[in-house]
Amino acid sequence: MQRLFAGTPWDRPPTCERCGNAESECTCPPVVPEPKRLAPESQTARIRREKRAKGKLVTVVANLDPDGNDLTALAAQLKARCGAGGTVKDGLIEIQGDHLDTVDATLRSIGYKTKRG
Ligand SMILES: [Zn+2]
Repeated sequence: MQRLFAGTPWDRPPTCERCGNAESECTCPPVVPEPKRLAPESQTARIRREKRAKGKLVTVVANLDPDGNDLTALAAQLKARCGAGGTVKDGLIEIQGDHLDTVDATLRSIGYKTKRG
């Protein structure tokens, strides 16, 4: 993007707002914005079973905003409840095995609305 005052006396190199150094010399740690979490009550998780390679079943939790939820923590909670492994991938939580009922009950106990399929 062209800077507004490019080529004029106002065209100064961008400086860091925290240390005042030119951005190229700035050594401030990158700012990680605090993610804005959403209330579980305001969200509907979609739960479904999917078949993976070799006919293995996984329970998939979809439709949860990856920025609005700590999916990693949620996955850990679901894995513990189901006694199964699992991963977070592309904003989806995958729990190994068929745990539709347990996942549904766990999500509801946290406050999420759920929908099958
Ligand atoms: Zn800085």
